[in-house]
Amino acid sequence: MDADIPYLLLTPGPLTTTKSVREAMGVDYSTWDVDYNQRVVEIRERLVRLATNKPGFTSVLMQGSGTFAVEATIGSVIPTDGKLLVISNGAYGSRIAQITRCLKIPLVELSYSETESPDLDQIRATLADDTAITHVAMVHCETTTGMLNPAAEVGQIVAEAGKDYILDAMSSFGGIPLLMEDFHVDYLISSANKCIQGVPGFGFVIANQKKLEQTAGYARSLSLDLFDQWNEMEHKGGKWRYTSPTHVVCAFLQALKELEAEGGVAQRHARYCENQSTLVAAMQQAGLRTLLPRELQSPIITSFYYPDSPLFSFNQFYDELKHCRYVIYPGKISQAETFRIGNIGNVFPADMQQLVEQIEQVLDAMAISSGKTK
Ligand SMILES: *Cc1c(COP(=O)(O)O)cnc(C)c1O
Repeated sequence: MDADIPYLLLTPGPLTTTKSVREAMGVDYSTWDVDYNQRVVEIRERLVRLATNKPGFTSVLMQGSGTFAVEATIGSVIPTDGKLLVISNGAYGSRIAQITRCLKIPLVELSYSETESPDLDQIRATLADDTAITHVAMVHCETTTGMLNPAAEVGQIVAEAGKDYILDAMSSFGGIPLLMEDFHVDYLISSANKCIQGVPGFGFVIANQKKLEQTAGYARSLSLDLFDQWNEMEHKGGKWRYTSPTHVVCAFLQALKELEAEGGVAQRHARYCENQSTLVAAMQQAGLRTLLPRELQSPIITSFYYPDSPLFSFNQFYDELKHCRYVIYPGKISQAETFRIGNIGNVFPADMQQLVEQIEQVLDAMAISSGKTK
């Protein structure tokens, strides 16, 4: 762990960044400056290259947290006579539905429990039955639990039905290999502070350019108008409409370079997988169980059941771990008492091993025998 950080963030964004990413924020740029705008141009190009091997895709950055980019997309790409099918199995899928209702866009929601994978036959049947549906939206890695949804399979179904596909790949893009053409994605949404390992401040959308160009005038918001923002960036050399998070942009470009230096998405994915398997093996040794079966589990974040003891208090557990310089994440599901540990960011298998050693000590101090396997 860097000596200059107070603790390791084992949360799925903001997450632990490198010192060099944080240092890239040490310059005050003008939003009108050509050097700054050139960085925006480079970021947009790099994002497209990460997402696809095919021509015809473009990218647009949007101020705000990831949700703002989701809201910009939902509110900007669906025409007035459109209808959205939202497939949800967690808080982030439900949030897309909530945004859609808020914008008064016609909606059908297929919702599943937080530990259930979406039913592909039901999705296919819904698209066949309800011909008013024009767009389908789903979350790739449901950060609520850590579940990896079948984004490619759903994309195939959506493409066969001739609909447009919006994928919230917020917590997976950059950390899990994915090509938009293979997944049939038209709009892929992510943000600066997840697997690219930048700091929070903007989200981005990588889009099928022809489709995005057809959405001029659809937006239900001025500041969250995706087409307008794209049009400005595309035709004015990397300019944003309205003040952009200049420091965050500089950190993000550095983070993209570091992703490349690590060996790209494949290598980062391998590290996250190793983080996750190291964590789970050690936690199981300590007697703690994962919420999800292995086959549904992403390498991004892992949910664990509380230890089976009346002496366990999450708040105390959290505080004790924070004193040992590890910040974990509370659970977010209704069905079971869980906490979560992020596997992403500038963290490594050795960190996971040391974390679990601390967890064992904290549980011992709380007089909880976690059912440790001898
Ligand atoms: C982080 C995240 C978001 C966006 O959350 P913000 O708090 O707005 O950044 C959306 N969807 C998923 C799946 C996420 O993990």
